[in-house]
Amino acid sequence: VIQVCLPLNALGFVYREARDALVNAEKLFQLLREKPEIAEAPGLPALKVPRGEVVFDNVIFAYEPARPILHGVSFRIPPGGTVAVVGGSGSGKSTLARLLLRFYEVGGGSVSIDGQDIRSVSSHSLREAIGVVPQEALLFNDTIAFNIGYGRSGAGMDEIIAAAKAAHIHDLIDSLPLKYDTPVGERGVMLSGGEKQRIALARAILKNPPLLIFDEATSALDTASEQAIQKELDQLSANRTTLVIAHRLSTVVDATEILVMERGRIIERGTHARLLDQNGAYARLWQLQQRADDSEQLVREMQSSM
Ligand code: ADP
Ligand code: MG
Repeated sequence: VIQVCLPLNALGFVYREARDALVNAEKLFQLLREKPEIAEAPGLPALKVPRGEVVFDNVIFAYEPARPILHGVSFRIPPGGTVAVVGGSGSGKSTLARLLLRFYEVGGGSVSIDGQDIRSVSSHSLREAIGVVPQEALLFNDTIAFNIGYGRSGAGMDEIIAAAKAAHIHDLIDSLPLKYDTPVGERGVMLSGGEKQRIALARAILKNPPLLIFDEATSALDTASEQAIQKELDQLSANRTTLVIAHRLSTVVDATEILVMERGRIIERGTHARLLDQNGAYARLWQLQQRADDSEQLVREMQSSM
C-alpha cells in the first residue's frame, strides 16, 4: 500500500495503525520511533472541537516509573491562542506534545480539549484534529505530491500546490524535472532538513486542523529562511489553538503565554514583555539568542563580502 523508509512489514502494529489512518502521517512517524504504550477501549466517541481550548491540569508523567519527567504541569491555551514552550534540551517540551497527541498516557492530572478528557475520546479523532510540524519530519518513499497530499485524504492537485506555495517549497518542487511527481528519499530527490520541514508544513496547511503543534518547527532552518517561513506559520496559527515548542525565541514573542521549562517544571511563565521585565531565565535566554543571531548575521555579511 505504502512504502516507508523503515521496514514497515517488520512492525505489525505500525502497519495496522498505518492502514487505519493513512492521513495521519505524524502518528505513523511517531509510532515508527516510539512504541505507544496506550491500548484504547473500543467505541470511544469522537472528539468535538467547537472552540479549541486546551487544558493541561497538574500533569504528572514518566516514561519509566523510576524516572519522573513532568512534575505537575498546568497551563491553558485559550481558543485560538498560542502557548509557547521554551527551555533546555531534555526539559520535557516535546513530551507535552506527545501527551497532547496521546502517544503516552498521563500518570496524574489530565489533558482536555473543550472539556473532554482526551482519554475519553478516540485517539483517531484526536489526531485528526491536530496538525503537527514535527522536529524531524520524516517522509515516505513516495512522490512529493503524496507526501503533501496525505495531509488530507482526497485533496486535489490544486490544493496541494497552494499548500506548497504557502510553505515556500513550491519553487523548488517546480524546478525539478518531474515536479510534484518527483520521488523523495533514496531513489529520488534528497531534501535538506529545512526542505523536509516545509513539506511537513505544507501537509499541515492542507490538513487545516483546529489545533496545531509546532515542535521546534523551524529548527532546521537558518535565521533568514526562518524569517521567510515565519509569516506562514503565523498565518496558519492565527485564530487556531497552537502549542509551539520553540527553538528560536523570535518565534514566541507574540504568544498568549510563554512557559519556561526546566527539568519537567514550569519555572517562569508570562508574556514576552513581562518575562523580559522579570529579568530571569527567559531574559537570559533572550539575550543569548540575540547574540547568536548577531553572530550569524556577521558570518553572512563576511561571506557575502568575500
Ligand atoms: P525536550 O523536548 O525538552 O528536549 P523531551 O520532552 O523530549 O525533552 O524529553 C524529556 C526527558 O524525557 C528527557 O530526559 C528525555 O531523555 C526523556 N525521554 C524522552 N523520550 C523518552 C522515551 N521514549 N523513553 C524514555 N525517556 C524519554
Ligand atoms: Mg524536543
